[in-house]
Formats: sequence, C-alpha cells, structure tokens
Amino acid sequence: MRTQRQVVDYSLRKRAVLRELLAGRVGTYDVCDASPYLKNAARFHGEPTEERCPICRSENLTHVHYIYGDELKQSAGQARTLTELPVLAMTLCEFQVFVVEVCLGCDWNHLVEQYLLGRDGLAGDTEAGAEQGAVGGTAASVAGAGPAIRRRREAQR
Ligand SMILES: [Zn+2]
Repeated sequence: MRTQRQVVDYSLRKRAVLRELLAGRVGTYDVCDASPYLKNAARFHGEPTEERCPICRSENLTHVHYIYGDELKQSAGQARTLTELPVLAMTLCEFQVFVVEVCLGCDWNHLVEQYLLGRDGLAGDTEAGAEQGAVGGTAASVAGAGPAIRRRREAQR
C-alpha cells in the first residue's frame, strides 16, 4: 500500500515464542488463547494466508487487520478486511493498523506487524518518529494480543 509507513515487524518476537514453546518453557495453552472476538474477526474480516499454523500444522493462518486512530471515532479498534484499508487510507490523514495472525484450528495467535496508513504519508514523511511515543501504548490494547504478549514476556524472564 502506497501510504504504508513506520512498519514494525514482530517476526523475531514470534520466533522467540516458538523457541520457548519448543523448549517447554511455555505451554500451548499459553499461546493458543485466541479470544472469541478475535476468532469472529478472523472469520468475518480475516485475510486467508498460505502459511501453515506453526503449532497444529493442520490449518492455514488468517490475518486480522485492526485499525486505531482518533479520526476513526467509534470505528477505532475494529477489524477491517484488507480491501477496505486502501479506501480508508485515501480518506483519513493517519491511522494505525495492527495485523494479528490467528489459527482457527488451535487458537494460536500472535501480532505480525503494525504500520501507519493515511494521506499524511503522501506528503512526504517529515514528521516520522513524532508519534513513536504513542505507538507502544496502543499496541498493548490490541484485542486479545496485548495480554498474551505481556504474559509471554514474563515467561521469558
Ligand atoms: Zn493451529
């Protein structure tokens, strides 16, 4: 997408979780804890992928795109299909997208990446970094993913 910026990739964190699991330091019940809301979002707004679930290896992962930002008003925190995002990106100045992968077979879920979309990205990215402080706070509030990630961090200590 043309206006995509400030991308944060969580694949390293995911690999760390899978290592912990392999080593037996966390159980599958710790990482396969998708909430009913997240699973519904995956069913109705999710984007099917070709990627196999790393845990059960019997289902393909579904990507759910959550959107956050002041301009979204009451839509903030909702899941959107991938095809709806470019339309929003042309209408709004700036909003945050969180991509969560979910397995509808075993309930595995993990944050994949986050990025900013919106028309502000077209006018040159001069203010990149100004919003960095706010990004961390929003990440913790992603439905279902926040508490799970915090728990996993604790397990790594
Ligand atoms: Zn699975």
